[in-house]
Amino acid sequence: MSDQLPISETFVSIQGEGKLTGVPSWFCRLSGCNLRCTWCDTPYASWEPEKTLRLIDELVDEAVSSGVKHAVLTGGEPMLFEGLVALSRKLTDAGLHITVETAGTLVLPGLSCHLMSISPKLANSTPTDDPRDPSGAWAKRHEERRLNFGAINELIASSLDCQLKFVVSEPGDLAEIESVLDGIVGYQQSDVMLMPEGVTVPDPDSIRWVVDECLARGWSYCPRVHVQLFGDTRGT
Ligand code: SF4
Repeated sequence: MSDQLPISETFVSIQGEGKLTGVPSWFCRLSGCNLRCTWCDTPYASWEPEKTLRLIDELVDEAVSSGVKHAVLTGGEPMLFEGLVALSRKLTDAGLHITVETAGTLVLPGLSCHLMSISPKLANSTPTDDPRDPSGAWAKRHEERRLNFGAINELIASSLDCQLKFVVSEPGDLAEIESVLDGIVGYQQSDVMLMPEGVTVPDPDSIRWVVDECLARGWSYCPRVHVQLFGDTRGT
């Protein structure tokens, strides 16, 4: 097993999304993804991956010396990298709470995870006619890969807690979310989160429908607090 991982960035900030919003956390962004969402907000870890190979032990030392008690292992798609298992275990042994942020298309046996944060990708993510994909090869690959119910269910079963974050663009996405949820087991309604698409703070009127759908279904509304506080900037 490799003792290194391809890292796009590490930083300390507050968690901006999901159940642990506001919690001081050490973020470790792995570079590389098996999908190509057209609205990806970290293209430097997917469309144009930037990376530095870093030793796992060095990453653990950095996380521990940061003083925070929560680690967020994100990407890109962190599940692509076998070394994530060792990183997650060493961080757990050091007393940190582990969140893994994944699209839920892959499983890494042996991972140590307290909160599995899964963001299943809807059809609105497919890079159809995206200028970064002139041949359409990524759009095809993305469509083939974006939903893997076996992996999602295994990830939920293997973790102490989970959340299912859906990026929504329009009310028409709701029927697809319900259809996706039909294939998933082991979650509570409040684990389902709707997050409006975009990298700016949304106008309240434009996202009122998202809030109303959450109220009607017992789902959670998921803001991006880091965007409210820091804008669309790296390292936040
Ligand atoms: S899965 Fe995440 S990192 Fe990968 S392309 Fe989609 S939004 Fe970007």
